[in-house]
Amino acid sequence: MHLLITNDDGIYAKGIRALANHLSKTNKVTVVAPDRQQSATSHAITLHKPLHVERVNLGDETVTAYHANGTPADCVKLALGALCDEPPDLVISGINSGANLGLDIIYSGTASAAAEAVLQGYPAIAVSLTGPPFDFSASVLVAERLIDMVMQRGLLADTYLNVNVPPRPYEELTGIAITRTGVRKYRNSYERRIDPLGRSYYWQVGEVLQMHNEPDTDVRTVEDGKVSVTPVHFDFTNGRLLVTLKEWELTL
Ligand code: MN
Repeated sequence: MHLLITNDDGIYAKGIRALANHLSKTNKVTVVAPDRQQSATSHAITLHKPLHVERVNLGDETVTAYHANGTPADCVKLALGALCDEPPDLVISGINSGANLGLDIIYSGTASAAAEAVLQGYPAIAVSLTGPPFDFSASVLVAERLIDMVMQRGLLADTYLNVNVPPRPYEELTGIAITRTGVRKYRNSYERRIDPLGRSYYWQVGEVLQMHNEPDTDVRTVEDGKVSVTPVHFDFTNGRLLVTLKEWELTL
């Protein structure tokens, strides 16, 4: 199988190396990842400056790896449009350092890389480790298991899997559950500091708020020590309001 791997934490992150080096034992692996930290860049793409790509050595000769000065979505587009020598069977984004639960996926570069793959017609999985701590050994095995299942069973053409793995040894995971996206909110706070030139600047330190979540949500599932698997697709139209708005009988 040919697997394309990307992430949003950058090519030097431990999670992508653990994933690529594990999967390359039994698959052909191509890695195209950002050359720096690109978390929370969502689905941004680069249009007004050049993209520079370089071959890199991930310490495993069998892995073909590149880094690019773009976003996660750029990396997927570059890989599929220019770099891969043959189309991948599946695209995996991760393993991310940190959760992508609830509406985190709006901001997440990890999730958006998987979304970009789906938009281009490839099945995709986004995998995040909800640490700390950040020992990727269990999440790598979970990713491998899900890749096998997706290749056997297939996915819907417009849908990727958003997977969150609690930070536990594989034997201590309490199961795996199919979930829906829950609610995760942050208290927005900014630390105001003074730089060496006397100017003030702000540093965002969002703090996760405890929200009520039903047992079938991704948030609750990882709290219970289980792996959460959410099928995600885009449908931005609010169907309920669509009906109500028609009742307005708008005219010009
Ligand atoms: Mn990240």
